[in-house]
Amino acid sequence: MKGVKKVSQNYATRWQSALQSNYGQPALTLVSGKGLTLVDCEGNHYLDFLGGIATNLLGHAHPAITAAVRKQIGTLGHVSNFYMHPGVIALAEKLKELVGDDSARVFFCNSGAEANEAALKLSRRTGRTRIVATDGSFHGRTMGALSLTGQPAKRDPFKPLLRGITHVPFGDLAAMKRKVTRRTAMVIIEPIMGEAGVVMPPVGYLRGVREICNCTGALMVVDAVQTGMGRTGQWFGYEHEGITPDVITLAKGLGAGLPLGAMIALGDAAHLFQPGDHGTTFGGNPVSCASALAGIEVLEKKNLLAQACKHEATIKSAIAVLPGVREVRGQGLLLGIVLDNEIAVDVRNALQAAGVLVNAPNSNVIRIAPALTVSAAQIKKFIAAFAKAMAEIHHG
Ligand SMILES: *Cc1c(COP(=O)(O)O)cnc(C)c1O
Repeated sequence: MKGVKKVSQNYATRWQSALQSNYGQPALTLVSGKGLTLVDCEGNHYLDFLGGIATNLLGHAHPAITAAVRKQIGTLGHVSNFYMHPGVIALAEKLKELVGDDSARVFFCNSGAEANEAALKLSRRTGRTRIVATDGSFHGRTMGALSLTGQPAKRDPFKPLLRGITHVPFGDLAAMKRKVTRRTAMVIIEPIMGEAGVVMPPVGYLRGVREICNCTGALMVVDAVQTGMGRTGQWFGYEHEGITPDVITLAKGLGAGLPLGAMIALGDAAHLFQPGDHGTTFGGNPVSCASALAGIEVLEKKNLLAQACKHEATIKSAIAVLPGVREVRGQGLLLGIVLDNEIAVDVRNALQAAGVLVNAPNSNVIRIAPALTVSAAQIKKFIAAFAKAMAEIHHG
């Protein structure tokens, strides 16, 4: 046992002397995974209820993904956007079908921040420059995306940021109405604020924002990076409100584990970019597209969106009644367990010691975002482990 402990310490030392400290010291060294099971360098097994931060929709090493990726990399790897390839066209068509609007046009990139950067640049093509975003929101870490992000702790060290961006309280339509004018190029909204701790807006909020955008001509950009691709039980997090955005940004789950982002524009917005306006070398590369297409096919065939809603109900009813839990919020398999006390880090650590991985987006919230392939037995196991961790912390 002493020998294996040494292995993990050795990785930590090597990490510190070779990587920058922007992530702090990561908790574990993981070496393999299968489905929702992860294995660390000491041979410990974990039930993965974080899913690579809402990313691994089908878990680890899903046979459909490994087969699709293997086949693609063995057939045609990267080609750049000087050339077309069948996968990028098929995936854009599939996304159009899922969005349900034939006017939609897709731009592919590699991450959520890049998808939002693309939306930002697109909005400049309206001829307007002002932007309204919300307090607490998270839109990425690059300078443009960070300027949209409504979290002072992440922004302040990097000022000056982009000018002309106003933040209003999330969920407050009156504040939004005051700030959005005919000079506003875009409004950007998360359907559920994931990084802020799975914060839900009041019912009707997205519909209200849609109306404000209609009245002023501002583009309504929905950042569905975390709430997209089926995670909330609908393909895209805004569908619960029955609205159609002007722009949708996606990443996280889109590539089913591979890096892939997208900025989808609808209606007039679909034609704002002119040749030469924007681009990225790896965006829409054949391997990431093959993975995304395979992922969507499995989600559809196995009816995993409907499953996510069933699991949501099971988890909410079992966890919400536990002592020390104030509420369980979120939709589908993006859930935030709100605790009575600021003990989220202790709960996360206790769960990790018990072999369950979750995260603590803030001091009183535990976030879970397991793969949509999670089984009823694994849900049961999580609920039992969570209840035990809470009981230990309360009585210990
Ligand atoms: C994670 C996230 C991003 C940033 O995505 P990256 O791939 O880390 O750049 C943007 N918006 C939302 C809502 C996210 O959850």
